[in-house]
Amino acid sequence: MARIPEPVIEQVRDATDIVDFISQYVQLQKSGKNLFGLCPFHEERTPSFSVSEDKQIFHCFSCGRGGNVFKFLMELENLSFQEAVVKVADFSHVELDATITRQAAGTSGQSDPQSPTNQLIHLHQEATKLYHHILMNTEAGQPALDYLHERV
Ligand SMILES: [Zn+2]
Repeated sequence: MARIPEPVIEQVRDATDIVDFISQYVQLQKSGKNLFGLCPFHEERTPSFSVSEDKQIFHCFSCGRGGNVFKFLMELENLSFQEAVVKVADFSHVELDATITRQAAGTSGQSDPQSPTNQLIHLHQEATKLYHHILMNTEAGQPALDYLHERV
């Protein structure tokens, strides 16, 4: 998989609330500034897994695991960092492919044959061919062709 550029990773992180994300997996209870729940990484009866909304990180006082939203998903589903970013982006509706493509191509959409600009260029090329055909091969084009030959 292509390396995800740092600004895109930041965009995904900014678009994601770690509390929303972890709430999919862990039932969290607000307690003071943080939220607590049962650690998803091991069996436990008293919640020692905490999530900080301010810092956008998690930390388990029992097993010591901690980190940001990507780290959480990497640990939980045994993913690589890139895979975790892709999944979190999907959760937060950040269109990763489009963003990465834009980054790679540097904002130009020239490679897309369906873009208005390229359709116009194509149309222009077709028109040029048509006029060339009229000029060279039809009676309607004869006076113009004569004129051009006289000029040479
Ligand atoms: Zn734990």
